[in-house]
Amino acid sequence: MTTQLFFAKRKPRQCPACKSKNVASIMYGYPSSEVIEQVEKKIVLGGCCITDRDPSWQCVDCQIEIYKEFLRDLLLGTNSREEQIRKARELLSDEQLVAFFKATRNKKVHAIEFINKELDSGMSLDKVFYTGEMFGWALSVRKLAGEARFKISFGYAGGDVGDGGEWKVEFNGNEVILIESGVIRIS
Ligand SMILES: [Zn+2]
Repeated sequence: MTTQLFFAKRKPRQCPACKSKNVASIMYGYPSSEVIEQVEKKIVLGGCCITDRDPSWQCVDCQIEIYKEFLRDLLLGTNSREEQIRKARELLSDEQLVAFFKATRNKKVHAIEFINKELDSGMSLDKVFYTGEMFGWALSVRKLAGEARFKISFGYAGGDVGDGGEWKVEFNGNEVILIESGVIRIS
């Protein structure tokens, strides 16, 4: 039997299993008397043993527990970040990626500065993207309509936190001919 685990970036409005609207936050530690009064619909007590992989919410109706999205890789033993990098590198050549990092060089985004420093020091992309742990570079690439146009998300991430941004990039061969920045996150 496999037990399905549920993940969410923020408190879900609906239970992902039974669609109930009664999803409670799990509170860990010793509850105050005010908290005890709220128990039932809004807060579920999680007990005092706190680990680095506890669920954050629970459905009051079907009792399934929901974990924060960033625990996905840790709990499922997968690495979706590595998988995204692998897919991104199927869409873009190493030369195109390096050209993108150079073109976005901007002191405001630390992730871009850091990766450029690594590349400047002669490190290969294979080495730069070498992972095997939960935290590191996050890169995802989506092909946009039109020739050689892509949406590139890049940043330094551990789950859903981090510094980085999104850019629309157009290439001519390995050269960046157009770059537009979208959302920029600065930590
Ligand atoms: Zn439920």
